[in-house]
Amino acid sequence: MTFCREIHRNVNPNGKSRCLMMPIQCQSKTDVSRGNDGRQFEQPAPVPDNPKNLALFLDIDGTLLEIVERPELVTVPPALLQSLERLAGQLGGALALVTGRTLANADSLFSGLSLPVGAVHGMERRSYQGAIESAGLAYDLTALRDVLAGFVSDRPGLLLEDKGRTIALHYRAAPALESEVHAFILEQLFGRTGLALLHGKMVFEIKPEGADKGAAIRAFMEEAPFSGRVPVFLGDDTTDEYGFTAVRALGGYGYCVGLERESDARYRLADVAAVHEWLARLAKKLER
Ligand SMILES: [Mg+2]
Repeated sequence: MTFCREIHRNVNPNGKSRCLMMPIQCQSKTDVSRGNDGRQFEQPAPVPDNPKNLALFLDIDGTLLEIVERPELVTVPPALLQSLERLAGQLGGALALVTGRTLANADSLFSGLSLPVGAVHGMERRSYQGAIESAGLAYDLTALRDVLAGFVSDRPGLLLEDKGRTIALHYRAAPALESEVHAFILEQLFGRTGLALLHGKMVFEIKPEGADKGAAIRAFMEEAPFSGRVPVFLGDDTTDEYGFTAVRALGGYGYCVGLERESDARYRLADVAAVHEWLARLAKKLER
């Protein structure tokens, strides 16, 4: 089983069609040892030849940190905080977190670092200079949130996470409910325009259309200290494909964490431990 993107199109009562673009689990015969361009992944994944010119973008869950059953229970090892602080200094500040978490949540995890962050799948962003931008404030998710809360309330194991601008429904503790959750959400989205559905690891997330992790990376790359550098993005999930596509279009490349699916990334890292090891190799190379 691998993941691919699927377009869900439906028609609202006014006869206007709309698209929901979402990554979804599906059958594929794709050789996962190769990227979408047919290129064989190098193992172990190399660190860049000229790392001083990098702009580094890092997903959090499943990339820097192991995924845990409840997102709020994750903790950050002190060694990782030190590693990121050191790398950010070595890269002249061109290191940003790009995550589905909220900005406040990312800050509480990586407290003391004040890194640039692309949060909530590109819906919130804090630049290197500290300016905060928000997108998609116009969409009122209240009614949808209430309906989903009712759905979750009598299904043990489901977790509704209200991120303000998006709503995430986690089913990690109740994986057998995936099909039911998916069908229910699609039913609720039918006829609503301007919303997109993301399918991540054991989570469905509803967000206003337009912003994604790729948009956050593109915005960073227009600003100092990122502009003029080669963008590199490390991520693990189907929602990170927007980031891999963005860095590729900007002359950079991605590292996909995990080995189980096809990806637009150029390289693969086996797991979170391999990411930490790669970051250590990168820091060492930057010392020279
Ligand atoms: Mg992730």
